[in-house]
Amino acid sequence: MNDTIQVYLSAWPTVWAMDTARYLVGATLMATILALFWRAGLARRKLQARDATGADKRREILASLRTAFIFSLLGAIVAVGDHQGWITIYKGFQQAGPLYLVGSLALMLVAHDTYFYWAHRAMHHRRLFALFHRTHHLSRTPTPWAAYSFAVPEAVVHAAFVPLFLLFVPMHGLGLLAFGIVQILRNVMGHAGAEVHPASFGPGRWLGWNNTTTHHDLHHEAGRTNYGLYFRWWDKLMGTEHPDYRAKFEAIVAPQAKTTSPAIAGRVLAWAIAGSVLAGGLLLAADPAQADEAPTGRWATPGVAAIVELAPCSGASGLCGTIRWLWEATDEKGRPRLDTQNADAGLRARPLVGLSILSGLTRSSKGGWEGRIYNPEDGQTYRATVRQTAADTLTIEGCVLFICQKQVWRSASTLAAALR
Ligand SMILES: [Zn+2]
Ligand SMILES: [Zn+2]
Repeated sequence: MNDTIQVYLSAWPTVWAMDTARYLVGATLMATILALFWRAGLARRKLQARDATGADKRREILASLRTAFIFSLLGAIVAVGDHQGWITIYKGFQQAGPLYLVGSLALMLVAHDTYFYWAHRAMHHRRLFALFHRTHHLSRTPTPWAAYSFAVPEAVVHAAFVPLFLLFVPMHGLGLLAFGIVQILRNVMGHAGAEVHPASFGPGRWLGWNNTTTHHDLHHEAGRTNYGLYFRWWDKLMGTEHPDYRAKFEAIVAPQAKTTSPAIAGRVLAWAIAGSVLAGGLLLAADPAQADEAPTGRWATPGVAAIVELAPCSGASGLCGTIRWLWEATDEKGRPRLDTQNADAGLRARPLVGLSILSGLTRSSKGGWEGRIYNPEDGQTYRATVRQTAADTLTIEGCVLFICQKQVWRSASTLAAALR
């Protein structure tokens, strides 16, 4: 239980910072594109005669920051689930390759669109609307800042998708990152207030199965149609697409057929996804803990107090570590040192040399190895993370409740070489 709370508390600040930054960067990017290209063509693509007021934007920003906070409260549960093994987040490509990353990302987007469509339609039910969804529709003329402008109950509904999806489908960390980027970029594009998609996103064109700014803007202006998030599939299938959508989109993009600037939003999206996937791939490739083999062999603890051998566990999976040599192998009377501090009195007669102190180390999805370490000095067993941080260096982190300690072990062969 304490383990769970510790993982949650240590993950939450990062998740909160990422959710908040994702919103601020996405909305600022869209607002900047609108400002830069307004006169060059986007002004002619403005979707409503009405202008959003300063008060609208302030309300949208405050509600969105609150939503990012709610997202992080639920998002940190994902870190706990990964740690506890309820869900799987791959870090490298050992268990599932790049093809799985791309396929699972596509599946996640399709599943999210389905979840969003039905949750969104439900929230338009007259009994649910006031509690869940009225806050979002206070924006009759949305701006990019409205991306996360939700009441608290609606934010919880949206935040629940990622943990629920991960219960069924293991994802790469990189796939989750790409999902977060696509989600916020599509969201700010939908609320841009001026059509930022090129004509190729029009109905019947080759990207026409995607939603556009016109599509979601009509939802804000007229309500009760165009419930979908990324795709038009559900609205078409369920007959909930606005009857004027096609005509409106074509009218708004037609006069600018020769203007390429509005298409920049689509390009920014493509480059952002490609860039993040590439950067993540490079990070994975550069991570020594991922590239390295299992850190088997003999290791010296600080001050060469002991030599511990890491090897595959006998009769079980994973790695185990056994004390092979002690600087002080005997007590003052010359007898072999025993496991005298053990909480279990029946085990106190065990000799320390030959004692297994690291057990059940398995490869962690976050890199390195996770298992248990027994410290004969205090008779306690700790949760341990073992990482090979250099060719001759092993970093051991052991935690009991909230107290963690780090130790650096050195390869015994480096010591042997120094003695020659
Ligand atoms: Zn709605
Ligand atoms: Zn909206």
